[in-house]
Amino acid sequence: MNGNDIISLGLGLEEPWKITGQTLNTDTAPHELRITLSSDRGSIFPCPECGALCKAHDFKEMTWRHLNFFQHHCYITAPVPRVNCKDHGVKRIKVPWARKGSKFTLLFEQAALMLVREMPVLAASRIMQIPDKKLWRIVSHYVSESLDKIDLSNVKAIGLDETASKRRHNYVTVFIDLNKKAKPVIFATPGKGKETICRFKKFLQHHGGKAAHILEVVCDMSKSFLAGVKEHFEKATVTIDWFHIVQTFTKAVNKVRLLESKKTSLPKATRWATLKNAESSLSKDEQKALAELERMDFFTGVAWRAKERLRWVRQAETVQAAKWRLSNFLLRMSYERLERSPVLQPLVEAVETIIRHRPAIEARWESNHSNARLEGLNSLFQAARARARGYRNPATFISMIYLIASPVGDMIKST
Ligand SMILES: [Zn+2]
Repeated sequence: MNGNDIISLGLGLEEPWKITGQTLNTDTAPHELRITLSSDRGSIFPCPECGALCKAHDFKEMTWRHLNFFQHHCYITAPVPRVNCKDHGVKRIKVPWARKGSKFTLLFEQAALMLVREMPVLAASRIMQIPDKKLWRIVSHYVSESLDKIDLSNVKAIGLDETASKRRHNYVTVFIDLNKKAKPVIFATPGKGKETICRFKKFLQHHGGKAAHILEVVCDMSKSFLAGVKEHFEKATVTIDWFHIVQTFTKAVNKVRLLESKKTSLPKATRWATLKNAESSLSKDEQKALAELERMDFFTGVAWRAKERLRWVRQAETVQAAKWRLSNFLLRMSYERLERSPVLQPLVEAVETIIRHRPAIEARWESNHSNARLEGLNSLFQAARARARGYRNPATFISMIYLIASPVGDMIKST
């Protein structure tokens, strides 16, 4: 086996293609290994549509970037014919070493995708020595090709949440299959409103799923999500994700603390003490702060107590217990006379949120699905953001979410 044979094998060359030239261009930095391929005169090629063997009509010289040869960039050049098929007319043939429209060989693209699954695209683009923009184009091609084949015919319960591709910018809504433990993402789309739910429904139907089969939707308390679910998934029970309720109260505690600190000085360590749970390890200062908040009846103490009582609701083991604890929680809130000061207004709003969404909050005790699912998405979003750093917009962010958290990643691996 000589050097040409080895390269032919690596490229998957088959008749009538063969290597007819190699030059190393040392005028460029890095140096370029240029490999020329050609076919014998009079060779026949399959029509890209039907496979019928046809004579070449004309040729066009095309070049692809191939895997680096040690430290040298490597390019492959070949005159690619168009054939004149009697059924399909004049068509450019498919070459065995690259996909249509790509300026890279299949081996180059596979190597690039292998890296992208393990590291940020920017880092992979440096190793492959191509601009990250070009690498993103390869990634998004394979992601959308695999996504086309995704099968959603068994989806019955979904969770959805929105996140920003950058801080407070360019929202993306992500849908997960609640029955899938690993790689649960099935759809991601720009925006965070009702229209994202409409888009998901279309995607679902296009991939074998049915809106009427969706019996459960877990989401946050956003009006537009709730309205969208009601309109497009009539059969679904809506469950509010507990994580979002905790978040609502954590924010309320914080707002009350800020408002109150403008009026009076709060005990030292109040901020961290009120962010933690009662059972977590508190420093001496934090314990003192909580005791003083209680003893002196600070508004911040009221808000903190509400947050802690809510955790007690969460620990209910049956739906009956949960309903009773929730009633008890609301009764206690009414004893607190929250209307006595505008400082407590953030807490009033948090409690009203609970009242407004009570059935959807209680639904979590009847749900078969772990409610930690949406919370788990946050670390996924963070990972996707990190991988897309340097060239991040909703499109690249979405590609990365699919690549690391949907079945698409494995589908690409097996191509
Ligand atoms: Zn044909």
